[in-house]
Amino acid sequence: MRPGADSISNLSISDYHIHTPLCKHAEGDPKEFVSAAKSLGVPEICFTDHCPFPDGYDRPHRMEPDQFSLYREMTSDLCEVSGPHVLFGIEADYYEGCEAHLREWLPRQGFDLVLGSVHFIGNWGFDDPDQKGRWRSVDLKTAWREYFALLARLAMSSLFDVVAHLDLPKKFGHRLTDKEMIEMASPVLDLIAASGMGIELNTGGLRKPVNEIYPSALILGLAKERDIPICFGSDAHAPNEVGFGFADALVLARSAGYTESLLMRQRKRSFKPLPFISDNPPSHHRH
Ligand code: ZN
Ligand code: FE
Ligand code: FE
Ligand code: ZN
Repeated sequence: MRPGADSISNLSISDYHIHTPLCKHAEGDPKEFVSAAKSLGVPEICFTDHCPFPDGYDRPHRMEPDQFSLYREMTSDLCEVSGPHVLFGIEADYYEGCEAHLREWLPRQGFDLVLGSVHFIGNWGFDDPDQKGRWRSVDLKTAWREYFALLARLAMSSLFDVVAHLDLPKKFGHRLTDKEMIEMASPVLDLIAASGMGIELNTGGLRKPVNEIYPSALILGLAKERDIPICFGSDAHAPNEVGFGFADALVLARSAGYTESLLMRQRKRSFKPLPFISDNPPSHHRH
């Protein structure tokens, strides 16, 4: 069954974070993601599969470099009558050593949107369920500090349009206090604001142990103070996750004071008004 379909049909919010099976941990033909969006009334979706890297970075969780043309093919010409508009994007990782390649490669691909993500602290895939055990042997604050240091470098790189899942290290429930979070996140949000990037409300967190959207209401409030724009992403790795939890994400965005969201074309941004909550009763449905 489709998560929350009862309460989020005709929820007019675009889903800017969608994967394909090329990443080796997603399922469903791209056409099925489009059909799912169509039946929910999602106006636009953007495929943002995990970016391939020629240096072999995190190879088990992404397409091979020579599959990129297939990725482009699979996700093109999917616009149908009365269906969603389909955008072409990528979820690119920021890591030590990524910059020279991305600076040369990203601008040539005709992307509508480039998400910037940090999934590794050094060689530790801190959000990988298989590497979760390492949280027990690290200092919590040190781990978060190292994560935010990488995010600061991501922001300063000018390589990306939108920061994905901004507080991803909370995935398994490893949280900072509010005071620590404000101290660590504020300088990074200053850099994000200065860079002109947006951030996403990623509902994937609702499907993880933390059971919370990325980022938290606390961080989103700090982002709003800095006028950092937002978009919405389900981080769907299966067709029935398209638009997942968007009613909750809308409530979160409105509560933080947001009234519009990003609309991306060819990496140029414009804005569209957010729907009103009253039109879209929040789903208390959890899966
Ligand atoms: Zn993934
Ligand atoms: Fe990610
Ligand atoms: Fe993703
Ligand atoms: Zn993701």
